Amino acid sequence: QAKHQGRSQYQFYSPEINAQLQERLALENELRGALERGEMLVYYQPLVDLHSTEVVAVEALVRWQHPTQGLVSPAKFIAIAEANGLIVPIGEWVLRTASAQSRAWQLAGLPPIRMSVNLSARQFEEPNLVDIVSQILQETGLEASSLELEVTESFLMGDVQRSVKILKQLRELGISLALDDFGTGYSSLNYLKRFPVNMLKIDQSFVQDVTSNRDSAAVTNAIIALAKSLRLNITAEGIETQEQLEYLQRRGCHEGQGFYFSRPVPPDRITQMLKKSSQQMESMAA
Ligand code: C2E
Ligand code: MG
Ligand code: MG
Ligand code: MG
Repeated sequence: QAKHQGRSQYQFYSPEINAQLQERLALENELRGALERGEMLVYYQPLVDLHSTEVVAVEALVRWQHPTQGLVSPAKFIAIAEANGLIVPIGEWVLRTASAQSRAWQLAGLPPIRMSVNLSARQFEEPNLVDIVSQILQETGLEASSLELEVTESFLMGDVQRSVKILKQLRELGISLALDDFGTGYSSLNYLKRFPVNMLKIDQSFVQDVTSNRDSAAVTNAIIALAKSLRLNITAEGIETQEQLEYLQRRGCHEGQGFYFSRPVPPDRITQMLKKSSQQMESMAA
């Protein structure tokens, strides 16, 4: 009876919602096996020291090279992969790929940079997360101090005690931790103090209109002040203009990333950028 009623509700879906649902179901089906078929790619976006404007880190950002739809953005498939659990193997693959890439850059003698990788809520719930991270560091030969993991407040707030424990274990490996999309979550200052993170990343929604919207500027200034008083590093995401850059520089924000510097790019583009900056350093030293 209940099932029957449930079914009959489908007729109320509008055609547009139906089409969206169909697209999502199709993507979900195709996502199974995408990793095995070699369709996942990792792009990298530079993070720049806002004082020296040198590249000091890159963030690994996954892309899906879909057989017919081209490059699919994570905005389209991460939520699906979260819902069906595929994010766990995909996330582990991203971490392994990014760590191996970072080690390869080091072995090529390029200037050392931090590698930052996003963690999903589902990965954080896995009981063996710390072991997997530690195993990947060993396997790839990357020192822990070169790796940063990005977490979000929203998933840390689920079971705070457990979160604090896992974060501490990750820090004990020697890696850094960043709070991503900061300012959009619960922002409980009481918990913030307990989470052993090194870095706050100001969400791009504030940075986008920091020079035109007083409220965004107020939030940005407050986050920078908070980070400083907690002795945390601070990154601004989504810097697109010179004005935004100058504003954040004046406020003493440490690092930034955004289309103003570079979009996320394939690894060989980062190799070129790092080669150029090491040549510049050599010619300055000569
Ligand atoms: P995020 O971790 O906050 O990453 C930053 C996002 O902002 C990236 O989007 C990046 O391309 C975009 N971005 C950077 N600078 C600018 C800018 O100046 N303007 C604009 N408009 N956007 C900018 P992307 O690559 O589409 O990734 C979206 C989100 O998907 C990420 O947000 C992250 O939450 C998730 N994601 C990406 N890769 C992974 C992954 O490997 N694992 C997990 N769990 N999540 C991932
Ligand atoms: Mg991130
Ligand atoms: Mg972010
Ligand atoms: Mg974001």
